[in-house]
Amino acid sequence: MGGLTVPDGMLSGNGGAAVLRADAAVLRGNIAAVRARVAPAELMMVVKDDGYGLGAVWAARVAAEAGVVWIGSYDIPTAVHLRDALGPEPRLFAWVTSTDEEIAAALHAHVDLGVGSIDYLERVIVQADATGYRARIHLKIDTGLHRNGLSAAEWEDGVRIAVDAQHRGIIDLVGAWSHLAEASDAEDDAAQRRFLAAIVRAQELGAELPFQHLTASAATWERPELRGTLVRVGAFCFGVRSAGGPDLSGIAPAAELIASVRRVDGDEVVVGMGSFDGLPSTLGGRVQVGTPAGPRDLLRVDADASRVAAWPGAEVGDEVIVFGRGGSGDVSPTTLAEAIGTVGEEILCRLTDGVRREYR
Ligand SMILES: *Cc1c(COP(=O)(O)O)cnc(C)c1O
Repeated sequence: MGGLTVPDGMLSGNGGAAVLRADAAVLRGNIAAVRARVAPAELMMVVKDDGYGLGAVWAARVAAEAGVVWIGSYDIPTAVHLRDALGPEPRLFAWVTSTDEEIAAALHAHVDLGVGSIDYLERVIVQADATGYRARIHLKIDTGLHRNGLSAAEWEDGVRIAVDAQHRGIIDLVGAWSHLAEASDAEDDAAQRRFLAAIVRAQELGAELPFQHLTASAATWERPELRGTLVRVGAFCFGVRSAGGPDLSGIAPAAELIASVRRVDGDEVVVGMGSFDGLPSTLGGRVQVGTPAGPRDLLRVDADASRVAAWPGAEVGDEVIVFGRGGSGDVSPTTLAEAIGTVGEEILCRLTDGVRREYR
């Protein structure tokens, strides 16, 4: 919140601060449910956006201790940080196009790189050659999302460059991957056809590609026929189901968001969490939260506090569960998100550092 004027009476950061309480047992249970569902495909747990707001190192450590081999970080600095924290065991995958300095750091830390353009491929090869660390590359084909990835026209060139660098001992081309739009089954089917055709062509050109990954949470769960040898799952591991999607058996929110009562004000209570903490103000009047007496309306979200309909005997210090498994039952971040037309990930990832993280 640097630079913001803090209003009088703002209590953020003191004992009245909101808490995001992450539960390793729930995370482990979700991971086990996902792994059981996707076997024999392997799980890469994605921990981008600081582990969907829960803490990337915490989440990756829980996963690694549960035997998850692959962790996906999005960016290289996070992957390098995870390598320092977790040691040599896990395979780390970072896929965002990065600077030469970051590439060199990734190679030093044995981070697998997702590569989605010829230019980036060439830069990775140069860095691998210069540093002497053999790069492990997963080449990305654009299968329709048009965000990043080699086009069908570039694919053969990319594969040839990579295979040539592999023959020279500079890199290993170990994977092919893409990302689905998940807008319709028909589009995802077409994307898979492009993906598989690209893999066949790469194999004809001498690539081996043991790691073939296409799907994130929703398609991984619902469309077994789209799973390759590896799946990249973030949201579902953290218990964030898809907006409008079904409840998922064996999956529960891996964290609870808790605010405590600061003041009882007639038939309302004031709780210590507001929009400055990342709680969207539009939730006011649209959702219920859990209280010791059961669900109550969230009336209003102000900058540094929120108002909730009071219950008999409400006292300062009582806990209000904004999402989680108490009070009003299983309210997931997605339940809140659906009330304001967004996705559960956004509810989690907007929570600021003013929300204390607790782990158990
Ligand atoms: C975010 C992301 C994932 C994980 O998506 P979820 O829906 O959270 O499982 C997988 N792959 C890529 C490329 C991503 O950006």
